[in-house]
Parts: sequence; C-alpha cells; structure tokens
Amino acid sequence: MKFNSVLDSLVNYEAGKPIELVVREYGIEAKDVIKIASNENPHGCSPKVVEAIQKEAFKMSLYPDDSMHELKEALGVKYGVGSENIIIGSGSDQVIEFSLFAKANPSNKILMAKTTFAMYEIYGKRTGTTILKTPSHGHDIQEFSDIYKKHKDIAVIFLCLPNNPLGECLDKEEVFRFLKEVSSDTLVVIDGAYQEFALFKDKNKKIDPKELIENFPNAIYLGTFSKAYGLGGMRTGYGVGSSEVVKSLHKLRSPFNITTLSLKAAIEALKDEEFVKNTVVKNFEEMAKYEEFAKKLDIEFIPSYTNFITCKMQKNSSSICEQLMKKGIIIRDLKSYGLNAVRITIGTKEQNERFFKVFEDIYRG
Ligand SMILES: *Cc1c(COP(=O)(O)O)cnc(C)c1O
Repeated sequence: MKFNSVLDSLVNYEAGKPIELVVREYGIEAKDVIKIASNENPHGCSPKVVEAIQKEAFKMSLYPDDSMHELKEALGVKYGVGSENIIIGSGSDQVIEFSLFAKANPSNKILMAKTTFAMYEIYGKRTGTTILKTPSHGHDIQEFSDIYKKHKDIAVIFLCLPNNPLGECLDKEEVFRFLKEVSSDTLVVIDGAYQEFALFKDKNKKIDPKELIENFPNAIYLGTFSKAYGLGGMRTGYGVGSSEVVKSLHKLRSPFNITTLSLKAAIEALKDEEFVKNTVVKNFEEMAKYEEFAKKLDIEFIPSYTNFITCKMQKNSSSICEQLMKKGIIIRDLKSYGLNAVRITIGTKEQNERFFKVFEDIYRG
C-alpha cells in the first residue's frame, strides 16, 4: 500500500518504557518496578481528585460538556484571563499539534532548540514545514534571535521553559526581550509544562500567561495537568492565548477531545493547589540529594528547574539504562537525542534511595 509520502520522514515518539514491559521481559513483579522515566508525579495526584472521580465514575457513559466551560472558567480565574483565551487539549501535546497545523506548511519554517521536546519536531514534520534548530543543545536566546533575523519565513517558534529533556530554563526577561524582535505574524509557543517547578525555584523564570498574551498577542502559553498535578493518565492540557489565536486553534479541535472524567479531574485538581505545592517542595528536597549523589560519583549534571535531572555519562548510557532495567528501575536514555546522557525523574524518597544504591553499584562496577 502506498501511504502519504510525509510518513517517510516521520519517526515515532519514544515514550518511557512502561512498567508492564519490565514485568514481562525480566520477570520482576510490578510492585518492585520503579519508573522514574516519564516525569510523572511520584506522589500520584490529589486525593480530592481520586474521590471526585470515584463518585462520578458512572458519568463515563456521557459525553463531556464540549464547551468545557467549568474548567475554562477555573483556569481563567487562576490566570486572570477569559474563557475565550483558553483551549483545552488531550494533553498539551494536542495544543502543540493545533499550533503547528494552524501556521506551519511546506513553504515556511519552524524554529526550536537543538535538544528539546520531541513532539515539536514530530508534529512539525507532519505539516511538511522546514525545521530549524539552534546550534546549541539547550535554549540560547541569542541563537534564536540570530536565526530568526536570517530567515524571513519562520511561522512558529517553540520555547520550552523549562526545557525537557535538559532541565535548563531561560529568564522571563530574556524571553520578553526576544519576543519584541519577533513579527506579530509568527506564533511563539511557550511550553510551560514544568513552570510550577521553575517558578518555585527562581521567580525570574516565571512566565505569567496573562502578561505574556497582553504584551504579545502572537504568543501562546501551554500548561498541563500531567506533571505537577499528577494527572498524566487523564491526558489534559491547555493553551492560553489571545482570542484571535485561540479561535483559530479551536477550528482544529474535534468535539469531545478530552473525556468526561478527565474534565472532572482537572477541575478538582485546580481546587487543591496545596497538593501541587507539596509536590514541588518535595521535588527540590530530593533534587538536592541527586546533585549530591552526582558530585560524589563525579557525574556532570545540568542544574534543573524541573522534576527531573539530566546527567552526562562517562560509560555508555544505553548499557547503564539496560542494567538498571534488569534491576527493575526505568530511567530515560537520551541516546535518541544524540547525547550520552540519562534523564531521571525525581521520585519519592524511597524510590530515590533505591535508585542511588543500584545505580552506584552499576556505575562503579
Ligand atoms: C510532558 C510534556 C508536555 C505535555 O504533556 P501532556 O501530557 O501531553 O500534557 C508538553 N511539553 C513538555 C515539554 C513536556 O515535558
């Protein structure tokens, strides 16, 4: 069968190995497997969300309220914007997809950091657009500016703040200075998937969606319930943009693009900011232990503004990941990004302690 030729250039997103795979392949019991590979919340989600979902499970026979009015209103209150400024996606992944389809095509270009969230490139390729990347791995705003000035036809720019999979984060001031140079016809996607973590560690990293879109109506801010809120399995994210941008993205949204229970979960999650705060506090307490551990083993790491830490390996990263997996620990190999490095999601205290022990044996061995 002949398929659309665009498919020839596409690769699949390499998701973190599921616990079930380790159970099947290595015969380890699921309860003994630690997955610290996909930046999920190791503390789960707010108990209030679990309670609400249990109570409303029977509603799964009904389609969700497609206006998503209640969730948009709650997000609107959180950020001080109107419902017309918000679009809900099946994960913020879907809003990335909408942003690209709204602007990118075979006759223009998109711009991103060399090493950043893989979905920008994957969805970008589907549009047939040309993908430009900065020479440096992470976000160097000067490089973005130089490339932007050289090419007149850049339709979408992605800034991942903080950046997955490296963990670094630009200051808001640098971002805003760059945005002033950008044409009002270029859509700038600010991916804030880890903003809850970054703004706790350093106020200079905080991007306020309202301030962003008031100053730059050509920008869209993306947020997600998958990371700090602990709802990765519910697939709910959102975009905050000017009504003009949001209206256009809505044309690409299918009806009922998130589930009735996902919608409920997100609404409840927003009522428990205390849970998010606890998550973030514990994250950085444990992060400090990872930094200590890396220094002890003389491992180079990138100071992280997120819920993961990226470390360069002196030995083959794939082999280290494989050996860890045999011991029931899943982390993320960054070989597919062309880096001999690993990305480790900060787990619970107990998970991290086990990781340190097993990793040290393997690394020294
Ligand atoms: C996890 C992640 C997302 C989106 O996750 P969803 O589960 O689709 O909401 C977006 N951007 C980055 C950088 C991420 O790490």
